[in-house]
Amino acid sequence: MEQLLLAWYRRHGRDLPWRGTHDPYAILVSEVMLQQTQVERVVPRYLRWLERWPTAAALADASTADVIREWQGLGYNRRAVNLKRAAEIVASSGWPDDLTELPGVGPYTAAALGNFAFGRPVLPVDTNVRRVQERTRHKFGPASSQALMDLGATVCLARIPRCGVCPLGAGCPSRGARFEPLRRQSRFEGSFRQRRAHTLRLVAERPCSTTKLDAEVVAALAKDGLVSVGSSLVTLGSG
Ligand code: SF4
Repeated sequence: MEQLLLAWYRRHGRDLPWRGTHDPYAILVSEVMLQQTQVERVVPRYLRWLERWPTAAALADASTADVIREWQGLGYNRRAVNLKRAAEIVASSGWPDDLTELPGVGPYTAAALGNFAFGRPVLPVDTNVRRVQERTRHKFGPASSQALMDLGATVCLARIPRCGVCPLGAGCPSRGARFEPLRRQSRFEGSFRQRRAHTLRLVAERPCSTTKLDAEVVAALAKDGLVSVGSSLVTLGSG
C-alpha cells in the first residue's frame, strides 16, 4: 500500500514551496502558518514572510509590532508572537532536542518539524493523515507523511472520498463509503475571535485610546503579548 501511495505522490503531489527545503526555520514558519490557515492562503504569505525574515536570527531581531502586522489576515495572531519567541530561542541557543519546548510548538508541529527538517523517523498525524490511516486500516511509515497529507486533502476527502481515482482503492476496506458531515467550525461573525481581530486591526494602524476599545478584548490581547496597555494608550506588541 505504501508503494502505491508513494508512486501516486510522485505524479500528483502538491508542489508547495516549503517542500523544497529542509531549513528548520522555514519549515517551522510553514507549519505554524498551516496550523489554522488553509494552504492556498498560506503560500503567498509564507513566501513574503521568508523574504522579509529569511532566518530565525532575522525574525528574532524584528520588532513584535512588525511581526504582528505582517501576520494580519492569517488569523489566530497569538501564533505570530509565539513564532517570534521561538525564533529568539533558536537564535540564542539553537534548536532544542525536544522541539515542543519552543513556544507554539505542540506534538504535531514538533513531529512535522522533526520529520521534514531533521529527518527524524516520526509520522506527523494531522486530520488528513489520521483519516487515511483509519479508512485504509493501514499503518504508514514516516516516509509517507507528505503523500498521506496530499491524499487526504485531495482524494480521501472528509465526506465524499474520491475512491474512483484513489491509488489505494483496491485494498481499502472503506472504498465507496460516505461519511457524516463534520461539525462546522463555530461562526466567526459576532464571535470573540472577530472582536479580537477587529481591535488588533485598529491598534495595528495606530496606538488607540484605552477608552475607545473593548476592555475585555484588550485584556485578552495583552495576555497573549499582542498589545501593551499604557496609562491612556494601547499599542501593538508587548513593549
Ligand atoms: S479508497 Fe476511498 S476511502 Fe479508501 S483511502 Fe481511497 S479515497 Fe479514502
